[in-house]
Amino acid sequence: MRLKSLKHLSFLLSASALAGAINFANAQTTLISDIQGYSVNEDHEMLQFRALQFTDGKVDRVYSAGEALPEDPEMIRIDGNGRTLLPGLVDAHGHVLSYGLSLLRVDLTGTESEEEAVARIREFREQNGNLEWIQGRGWNQVLWTSNEFPSASSLDEFFGDTPVWLSRVDGHAGWANSAAMDLAGVNAATLDPDGGQIIRDAEGRPTGTFVDNAMDLITANIPRLSVEEQAFALRRSMESLAAQGLTSVHDAGISSSTLQAYQLLLEEGPLPIRVNAMLGAGDPQLAELLAAGHIASEDGTFTVNSIKISADGALGSRGAALIEDYSDLPGHRGLLLLEPERLHEVMKMAMEANFQVNIHAIGDNANKIVLDNFSVLIPQTGTRDLRHRIEHAQILRYEDILRFSELGVIPSMQATHATSDKNMAQDRIGEIRIQGAYAWRKLIDAGAIIANGSDFPVESPNPFYGLHAAITRQDHDNMPEGGWFPEEKMTPTEAFASFTLDAAYAGHQEDELGTLTPGKAADFILVDQDIFAESPTEIWRATVSETWVNGAQVSSN
Ligand SMILES: [Zn+2]
Repeated sequence: MRLKSLKHLSFLLSASALAGAINFANAQTTLISDIQGYSVNEDHEMLQFRALQFTDGKVDRVYSAGEALPEDPEMIRIDGNGRTLLPGLVDAHGHVLSYGLSLLRVDLTGTESEEEAVARIREFREQNGNLEWIQGRGWNQVLWTSNEFPSASSLDEFFGDTPVWLSRVDGHAGWANSAAMDLAGVNAATLDPDGGQIIRDAEGRPTGTFVDNAMDLITANIPRLSVEEQAFALRRSMESLAAQGLTSVHDAGISSSTLQAYQLLLEEGPLPIRVNAMLGAGDPQLAELLAAGHIASEDGTFTVNSIKISADGALGSRGAALIEDYSDLPGHRGLLLLEPERLHEVMKMAMEANFQVNIHAIGDNANKIVLDNFSVLIPQTGTRDLRHRIEHAQILRYEDILRFSELGVIPSMQATHATSDKNMAQDRIGEIRIQGAYAWRKLIDAGAIIANGSDFPVESPNPFYGLHAAITRQDHDNMPEGGWFPEEKMTPTEAFASFTLDAAYAGHQEDELGTLTPGKAADFILVDQDIFAESPTEIWRATVSETWVNGAQVSSN
């Protein structure tokens, strides 16, 4: 905004007047004192300070205890009132549009039965009037008393001709009513598509749950969101993320129309928080988008320099591709979402276009195949410096854990997945393979740099939930005692770095973000609890009172 208005002024003002205008517009210095400040430094050591000084959008310096503060009367002075100040937290893997839509759709997270989910949908419809489609997300049959996939029949009774579509919490399965299945022409004769499964009854009739690529059968009939509707949801999402303490997020796979929605918002000014978006490899315009090159908005809030590919599904819906059978479903090894040749081809095409390649891989087979491809393609394309990533890197063979640092590949992991999955994961993969699952400590000890995140809206975007899970490997009831596979915990400093400097590194932004080093962006948050002074079990309770991006306050609670 500031740059834009200066450009505009230059048409109107003489050179000398312009110089005055620049001086006036620039050089506003702010000092925030009486704070408990924490940041890692560039060497990943914890640094403490009691005041932060910044000019316009950039950090000048921090002041440690005992250092005299400047007296300059021109400075804006803010009393931190003893609050904790941290660099803005970075989530390296979330879905900004889906999260925004989740704020605008029925939320089924936390339901304990299919009946409770249906009751919530009925309540949502009462509040939202006549909808062409009823949509929602967040159910998880593993947490239901039935522990079974839901059925169309439980919806049919209440929603009649109105199609209903509800995504599972991980986005890798969906639940439809009969109206939605009729629109799609799905019946007992419909074959399972490649990389997808239609859940059926004993007679082969679809029961209402669609896994991975089979979801497209239903979703193809949902009217597309306009670019304006997407922009509305994106803004709503970013405002909520800012309020929770995130100043930067990596949007894990956007379509070309979502890219247009971001560009529409940028015409009005900077985004509320920074977004580093990965281009979804499934977009029909991928080749054109790659050819157009990297994107970086002038105000620094929006960048594109990576693509996102999905190699397999998720563990909860048994879509994650495993080398051996699922421990709780003999004969089943999950699904690879792309033909091996196609995976190789897309990776190569993106690398040759100088794009970072970020691949969703959860099962040990998907991770192995992706690492095999990286080990061929990284030397071939000379793109080690692009810091390619594996998103989730959830279940790894021992030998594959070592390959991340060897190849310079970043495991982009989500700490709360471990604490949410803990009851289910061991059922799915058994006690041997679990040793290489959510294996943060083994990866760090092998030299990998972990970027942390949440995978919102799969998990809450609240970064303090992530810090808490990373440090304790416990849920909010402090269970299990001592932590789930506690040998994989991160130290507080490692966890903090994974949500700041290392997440910024994964986005090629460590020179601008992630610490409060002089010259870096003044992106920071004020928090009501001193998370490093209190017991780690309390970290998830922290609340953010102010969020600042580029030296401007974007949120106050
Ligand atoms: Zn994701």
